[in-house]
Amino acid sequence: MLVFSMAAHPWPKQGNIVSDSSFSSLALPKALLSNLASLGYHEMSPVQAQSLPPMLSGRDVLAQAKTGSGKTAAFGLALLAKLKIESFAVQGLVLCPTRELADQVAEELRRLARGMANVKILTLCGGAPFGPQLGSLEHGAHIVVGTPGRIDEHLRKGSLSLEALAMLVLDEADRMLDMGFQATLDAIIAETPTTRQTLLFSATFPDESSSGGLAEMNRGVMCDPVIVKIAELHDARTIRQHFYSVANEEARFDALCQLLLVHRPATSVVFCNTKRETQAVAEQLTEAGFSAVALNGDLEQKDRDRILILFANQSASILVATDVAARGLDIAQLDAVFNYQIARELDVHVHRVGRTGRAGASGIACTLVTPKESYRLERLEGLLEQAVKTEPLPKPQHSVPFEPLMATLQLAGGKKDKLRPGDILGALTGEGGLRGEQVGKIKVLARSAYVAVERSVIQQAQAKLERDKLKGRAFRVRRIRY
Ligand code: AMP
Repeated sequence: MLVFSMAAHPWPKQGNIVSDSSFSSLALPKALLSNLASLGYHEMSPVQAQSLPPMLSGRDVLAQAKTGSGKTAAFGLALLAKLKIESFAVQGLVLCPTRELADQVAEELRRLARGMANVKILTLCGGAPFGPQLGSLEHGAHIVVGTPGRIDEHLRKGSLSLEALAMLVLDEADRMLDMGFQATLDAIIAETPTTRQTLLFSATFPDESSSGGLAEMNRGVMCDPVIVKIAELHDARTIRQHFYSVANEEARFDALCQLLLVHRPATSVVFCNTKRETQAVAEQLTEAGFSAVALNGDLEQKDRDRILILFANQSASILVATDVAARGLDIAQLDAVFNYQIARELDVHVHRVGRTGRAGASGIACTLVTPKESYRLERLEGLLEQAVKTEPLPKPQHSVPFEPLMATLQLAGGKKDKLRPGDILGALTGEGGLRGEQVGKIKVLARSAYVAVERSVIQQAQAKLERDKLKGRAFRVRRIRY
């Protein structure tokens, strides 16, 4: 559990938000306000200051907020302020991607509710026995916090009713979508009244142009939401561009390795101008000990899908691609872009570079140029209206290539076998299994499923999936290598 001390870390000041950031400026019940003071919450965090007023006035809110931003108290206060204690129907539902997060959220809600009498908050997560949850549900609860798979199961079994739900919170919505919970979320939402208020919190944010995922979710699930983006995160979107001149093709490859060793990005794309080159560079990088995969138009669809799954779930850290093949690639977090050659067209260069530093993160873009290509630098200078200078190559401190964070297991079962992400997550994290944070993206296709887990626990994860039955069946499990 993250402990935040106001004294040590005052919330960053926001220039563009309400000047009164004390909780007493809000229409909150007295009991909640006095408890906040006793918890040492005196000033609102930026996310709280921007999201609480619209949430309390009944609006849907779509907020960009990371762990540590005070987001739990933001939606927690809104939930508690609206509660009708005398009614024992479930009025608030918080959906979280993992059991650990659900436990943390429930803990914070209970802390916030200390000043209110008789508030019942129940957690319903996968990996915990079903029976005791049924017992608790029979006693009634005001707020339920849980993971999508288990909540859906309770709904289908009739042990949970959301007929009186007034507020739905999707916490870490981006992560839930990454984990493949879209269909389960849709099924849960279909069981809630359309009059509900919906609050969606996500660490990453869809661009206006993006489709699918969160953007889709926003359109289908929320009603004219107030968008809360923390200005500071916007402004922090910085892309540092570096240019290096290399004498010839051999020097080009060495320079790429050197830059990879210096920056050690968890995810990066190396752009090449030709298909043949993507293959050659990926092979050379693999030989040099990096985890690189090539993406180009020559691949069969199923190989392309597999490569994108491995890259998106961080089991492969370097994607070597042509511009055409990388089109439509929707990776929220790209730490670095390497231009193996500077693009022939300048707008292509700008587009490549803009793929890093999304979602408020900072990014780095390195471009390699031979003397023959240097005229393109001059043109770029004109476009950017600033001097573009090449720099000397930095010297890496370690010569050992880095490994990707995650590794992937493939299960020989998918949607056709009624497998859902929650089943896989449940099997991995149940009884003596992994911790929720050790599990990454889960992708369930028609006849197979891919799950990423931290590399250090891949064997444990494989053994657990091989030992435990899923939906009463044992599925073949293998580790994917590329
Ligand atoms: P979260 O982003 O919800 O994980 O919250 C981060 C931490 O900040 C938690 O430990 C909260 O208890 C704490 N916190 C939330 N809001 C405030 C506040 N307004 N003042 C001080 N601490 C807070």
